[in-house]
Amino acid sequence: TPSRKPLMAGNWKMNKNHLDAILLVQKMAFALKDADHAAVDVVVVPPFTDLRSVQTLIEADRYAIQYGAQDVSPHASGAYTGEIAASMLAKLGCSYAIVGHSERRQYHAEDDALVNAKARAALAADLSPILCVGEGLEVRKAGEHVPHVLAQLDGALAKIPAEQVRRTVIAYEPVWAIGTGEVATPKDAQEVCAAIRTRLAELYDGGVADQTRILYGGSVKGSNIAGIMAEDDVDGALVGGASLDPGEFVKICRYRD
Ligand code: PEP
Repeated sequence: TPSRKPLMAGNWKMNKNHLDAILLVQKMAFALKDADHAAVDVVVVPPFTDLRSVQTLIEADRYAIQYGAQDVSPHASGAYTGEIAASMLAKLGCSYAIVGHSERRQYHAEDDALVNAKARAALAADLSPILCVGEGLEVRKAGEHVPHVLAQLDGALAKIPAEQVRRTVIAYEPVWAIGTGEVATPKDAQEVCAAIRTRLAELYDGGVADQTRILYGGSVKGSNIAGIMAEDDVDGALVGGASLDPGEFVKICRYRD
């Protein structure tokens, strides 16, 4: 039987400066108990400029909260002005890097090949990529969401070996549900997450499919998380707006209560 530990990741997007970040992580850390951390992996994903202060706080007080970055360069080092290398994030204690978020695909023209290069760069530095896939409203209306998402997945996982995909996290985020208040139904989330798991079994094997965590993202809140988590193939959530409210994010982490 699969033993996938649920994961709740809070994508802060371009919110909270490095001082606000300390306050937010502290509030979460005070509320979260050992039992919460035993039950779910709790991850915060602040802006790059917050990572050093988040690291200092978490290390000093030995919080069990993990953290990651919202993006990563596909390059290892060199003349790439404005970019941040995976090795720099690893050195700051990051465990994760989001790659292929729909806002990066939309506003920064990221395609599957670039998302693949970023995922491989993250993996080479021992980070776990949180690989985002998801369809827009037009594709959903046309009923093409499953093939669309699987094509994104195939492109993003190119040349990634089985032992690395196991520590990759896949996040299914329908674009029409991000920041809109329009949450996918648990059945919608399950349909696509199950299709992703089946594809992992086809691309790799059943063991990889059983071990890889697949998250849902899109307007997740304390009030709708339990229904989504009740689905077999949903192993957690990537949370945007609600992750900026510590009470709400802790509620999401305690979806079992
Ligand atoms: C996201 O951007 O990853 C996200 C899921 O945002 P929200 O929860 O605000 O819809």
